[in-house]
Amino acid sequence: MARVHNWQIGREMPYWYAEARPKRQFAAIFDINKCIACQTCTLACKTTWTSGRGQEYMLWNNVETKPFGFYPLAWDVKALDLLGTQKWKGETYEGRTLFEAAREGERVLGFKPEPDDYAYPNVGEDDAVGRVDNGAFLQVPHAVWFFYLARICNHCTYPACLAACPRSAIYKRPEDGIVLVNQETCRGYQECVKACPYKKVFFNAEQGVSEKCVGCFPLIEQGEQPRCFQTCIGKIRNQGFISTPDQLREDNPLDYLVHIRKIALPLLPQLGLEPNVYYMPPLHAPMGFLRQMFGPRVDAAVTAYRNSREDRTLQALLALFGSTPKTIHRFKVLGDDVAGYDEKGDEIVRVPVREPVWIRPLKDPTHGGVRLNIT
Ligand code: SF4
Ligand code: SF4
Repeated sequence: MARVHNWQIGREMPYWYAEARPKRQFAAIFDINKCIACQTCTLACKTTWTSGRGQEYMLWNNVETKPFGFYPLAWDVKALDLLGTQKWKGETYEGRTLFEAAREGERVLGFKPEPDDYAYPNVGEDDAVGRVDNGAFLQVPHAVWFFYLARICNHCTYPACLAACPRSAIYKRPEDGIVLVNQETCRGYQECVKACPYKKVFFNAEQGVSEKCVGCFPLIEQGEQPRCFQTCIGKIRNQGFISTPDQLREDNPLDYLVHIRKIALPLLPQLGLEPNVYYMPPLHAPMGFLRQMFGPRVDAAVTAYRNSREDRTLQALLALFGSTPKTIHRFKVLGDDVAGYDEKGDEIVRVPVREPVWIRPLKDPTHGGVRLNIT
């Protein structure tokens, strides 16, 4: 095995192939605090990519309620159980990654879900932790909690699916780091299904091959964000390209949020894949649960999010989420506005940093009616 550097766990680790980072890396940020589980993203993906035979059960994009929702069933519980004790020292992971914990003769420690595990994608939806007593009202901090976790393939820097494929049918595009399955060379051994801890590769029994999220690469090639981003009702998503911490660019929205403000974190970094979807953690869930999900930097991320009103640049960036179907490569705060630019440097969007709020007078003098200021 080669030795590679994984900045998310603060150290080197073994990987099946030598480190070969793409020219630029597809990445995304999801703000969990804004997701309403409307599943528009799920349907946008479903109707675009997986309406064919053998794809009926597949959800390349899914949204599950944590802690009791999973797709497939218990995917994260099983992966973490298999891995055993996970220990961090500061920001360095001292436990084993899935590559380090692989059994003799295997490349990745994994498991294959049972077909039935995919049968209930909405299991646990809106199930909260804690009891809601009769007559109770919402209190902060919440005594009762759950949150929505939207998930796509992470287009990992060190994909377990790619490492595990005995036919080298999975590849990472050098131009944007999107991870794809070559349908010509795949023979349906499903080693990738077993290896991906996020369970984002699916077996198509009709075609006899594995299939997965393609990052909407035809859109990416035209400078546009994927379908599940463009359609997101909650405006929780922003797609772009991320640099390694030593090569960050301050005016790149993803570099700023992940590396500078450190407000967006990878999901289960201890598994060792360097996933490239980053999450702004929910403010109201217990920190112990969040530390296991997002690693030791989650406390600082939650504090940064809480204080975002005091941080103009951060607030400006948050206003850009969901503001344009195009991929924003650079941003600039211009007085009360923030502008986003494409790869060539052309302005593609400009929005106010703070959305203006209009409160209408209670009485309508023209029509003589009384207004309700609710939406
Ligand atoms: S469309 Fe956006 S808000 Fe709706 S479920 Fe998907 S990620 Fe959440
Ligand atoms: S999330 Fe899974 S399917 Fe996607 S690149 Fe990583 S290992 Fe492969």
